Amino acid sequence: MASRVSKQQASVRKNEIVEVQFEDMTSDGFGVAKIDGYTLFVPYGLPNERAKVKVLKTKKNYGYGKLLEIIDESEYRTDPACPVYSRCGGCQLQHMSYEGQLLYKQKHVKDCLERIGHLKNVPVHPVIGMDDPWRYRNKSQVPVGEEAGGLIAGFYQKGTHRIIDMETCMIQAEANDTVVRVVKEIASNLGIRAYDEENHRGVIRHIIAKYGRKTDDVMVVIVTKTKDLPHKKRLIKEIAANIPNVKSIVHNVNPERTNVIFGEETNVIWGEPYIYDYIGDVKFAISARSFYQVNPIQTKVLYDKALEYAQLTGNETVIDAYCGIGTISLFLAQRAKKVYGVEIVGEAIADAKRNARLNGIENAEFFVGEAEKVIPWWYKQGIQADVIVVDPPRKGCDEALLHTIIEMKPKRVVYVSCNPATLARDLRILEDGGFKTIEVQPVDMFPQTSHVECVSQIVLK
Ligand code: SAH
Repeated sequence: MASRVSKQQASVRKNEIVEVQFEDMTSDGFGVAKIDGYTLFVPYGLPNERAKVKVLKTKKNYGYGKLLEIIDESEYRTDPACPVYSRCGGCQLQHMSYEGQLLYKQKHVKDCLERIGHLKNVPVHPVIGMDDPWRYRNKSQVPVGEEAGGLIAGFYQKGTHRIIDMETCMIQAEANDTVVRVVKEIASNLGIRAYDEENHRGVIRHIIAKYGRKTDDVMVVIVTKTKDLPHKKRLIKEIAANIPNVKSIVHNVNPERTNVIFGEETNVIWGEPYIYDYIGDVKFAISARSFYQVNPIQTKVLYDKALEYAQLTGNETVIDAYCGIGTISLFLAQRAKKVYGVEIVGEAIADAKRNARLNGIENAEFFVGEAEKVIPWWYKQGIQADVIVVDPPRKGCDEALLHTIIEMKPKRVVYVSCNPATLARDLRILEDGGFKTIEVQPVDMFPQTSHVECVSQIVLK
């Protein structure tokens, strides 16, 4: 033991400048370098690069450094397109070409399957990327502050609560940039104050823009600390006159001292309560508070793959666990006999039911509850699924759910995941329980960021 402890000691000191070779990249997009076995994480370092790095922080087993100078540049290095990239923190991979990002994401998924899931021979396909990996987001929520007497709106500077004004976000739909810019200008001209979180005074906290890519519908949401929205009539009139395609203006009141964006009270102050969008042929109603996939173009790609992996003929009973607003359920219902969706958030289930009605889909039923409790209960009631689809949050599936799946023995499981590490862990449990992972298809839902989504086909052995 003693020799192991001494080996872990930092072989570099704080403020030391060292030359390193990056071997890998973390799931957050930090370069990983090893110095005599000691690991240094360095933001903006790319695999295979040689660089000069200043050591900023040393812990027992690892440390952090700052990139000073690149000596040998990666073939995938590129200039970030966004002028505020290094200050914002919303994107992590703009210093890497899109080709490089996709290769890195594929490798990350492969590494997780091998290291965590001990799944060596499972094919991980090349990541399906976007033709145009910019301006894909359909929802923007920006904090509002004040500078030199006027309003600013943008993002919190990385690691702080200081608001930096921003003209445009390059991964955001242009329509949303327009909303933020126009509302900021109008409110500023009307002399409306921004909320100041330090003394808990002022009015406007956040501007939220939602955009239906297929319909061109725009929703504007203004969150205030005050119950009243000052100059409401003028504000509405000018927003309606200056924002093309605005269909809905909503006022939300959040009087609390909190980082949570929305408050309890929501009032539609102009137009419709919903805007609409489509994923494939399925229509979705989007309200101020409802969840909706932020990149519907790639969501369609991901769910088409899920549908392919489900191999439905029209006779199957399908369970969609962690169904959210029922996006996958409604997609699958068009090809299945019956779909049961389960989700823990009540409002999401209300949206799922509304969306089913909106599309005239009658063979999908939705239930509120924990998947790991509801599905075992269904099983006891005699509900037997041919196909189970899971799309859990980052922490992955609850083990109780995986054990029910193992008992239920559906012919196929389709696992949609936003976290390759928990995907790998859960695939191992299914593998040990009599299932086999056939293949994994990563899809790039969030270009320029380090996130990667996967869909996997798993069959009963
Ligand atoms: N496919 C969904 C999104 C899934 S995101 C859609 O397109 O809308 C993961 C979902 O799991 C979230 O909606 C979250 O509220 C839900 N969730 C988290 N824990 C859960 C649990 N234990 N049981 C059921 N749902 C859960």
